[in-house]
Amino acid sequence: MIAGLLVPDEIMLGLIREQFETLEGLVWILDGFPRTLPQAESLAELLEEKGLAIGMVLLIDIDNEEIVGRLTSRRVCGDCKSVYNLSMLPEGDESICGKCGGKLVTRPDDREETVRRRLKVYEEQTTPVLEFYRKSVGVTEVGGTGDIDEITAEIIRVMK
Ligand SMILES: [Zn+2]
Repeated sequence: MIAGLLVPDEIMLGLIREQFETLEGLVWILDGFPRTLPQAESLAELLEEKGLAIGMVLLIDIDNEEIVGRLTSRRVCGDCKSVYNLSMLPEGDESICGKCGGKLVTRPDDREETVRRRLKVYEEQTTPVLEFYRKSVGVTEVGGTGDIDEITAEIIRVMK
C-alpha cells in the first residue's frame, strides 16, 4: 500500500472469504473492494457459492485533482494517530497535534507522487470493474465533492 500498489488478488480474496464466514444473516458493505476485474469475478463466484447477492454498487465520484488535494493535505499525529486536514489547522501551527501536542506527519501513502500513482492504478484496474457492474447489477453514482453532510445525506437517500 505504501508503494501505491494494490494488495494481490489472492490475499484479498482469502480475507474476504474468511469474513464471509462471520457475516451470515447480516447486511455488509465492502469498501474499496473489488478493485480489479479478477477480484470482481472471483467475488461473484464466492457470492454464488454462498447463496448471497450484491444489493447495490455505489460509486462516490470525485475529481482526481480534488482527491490529490484532499490526501496531500492530510496529516496524522505520530503519537495519538488523530487525523487532520491542513485546512483545519491554525495558520503557522500546522505541525502540532491539538489533542496531545504530538508531531503531525504526512503518511507515506499520502505523498503526492504516491497518490498520483494510486490514481493511475485505479484508472487502469478499477475502470473495468465499474464496466463489469454496469453490465450486471448496475452502478449508483453519488457526487463526492462538496459538503460532507450533504454527500452523506445523498448516500443514505440512494441506499434506502
Ligand atoms: Zn496527537
